[in-house]
Amino acid sequence: RFITFEGGEGVGKSTQLRRLAEHLRACGIEAVTTREPGGTPKAERLRRILLSGRIAPLGALAEATLFAAARIDHVENLIAPSLARGAWVLCDRFTDSTRAYQGARGGVEPQALALLEKAAVGDLEPDLTIVIDLPPKDGLARAAVRREVAGERADRFEAEDGGFHEGLRRAFLDIAEREPERCCVVNGALPPDEVARAIRQLVDARFLD
Ligand code: C5P
Repeated sequence: RFITFEGGEGVGKSTQLRRLAEHLRACGIEAVTTREPGGTPKAERLRRILLSGRIAPLGALAEATLFAAARIDHVENLIAPSLARGAWVLCDRFTDSTRAYQGARGGVEPQALALLEKAAVGDLEPDLTIVIDLPPKDGLARAAVRREVAGERADRFEAEDGGFHEGLRRAFLDIAEREPERCCVVNGALPPDEVARAIRQLVDARFLD
């Protein structure tokens, strides 16, 4: 099974992904956890370049091709082989982030994104996508706290203005509305334990019960 977690900055994707992985492992399932951009050593190198802002002048389409390059390596060397041996793969962001960030917000043509997506993932599609929804001001505040604890600087996407993040939230909700069989929206404003329970319940109901 292939499960992706999507949503804006600081919505709790990585925490909830970890919690679900723990639950699956307790059920005796091999759960591989990974993230985008990144997930393999080469893709993690591309992540550092992409998030540092050093390639910003390239523009959204050129940037989208680098996200796609990272994804090609990630799918080929981690996601596909893990799924092939029967492991479950839980991925923090995947193609929906590209549709939302580079598409809806970056203005890259849907046809161009579809082409890049097809090249990178072929027919691979998440069995389930969990969209964690949270008002951007709450997510950005959480992301700021997390960064401070880790001693990191804001990446260039987090530094965008409020309208950018509102648009992003709308973009993820639109995707979920258009593909209700694949996507489930979870309220990220609930306490983390409750969010984890909601996600566990929907995964159990769909795949394990
Ligand atoms: O989820 P995480 O904070 O690890 O994502 C890293 C950064 O990459 C985020 O700031 C996100 O906005 C950005 N990103 C992006 N386009 C994607 C995936 C992630 O701009 N397709």
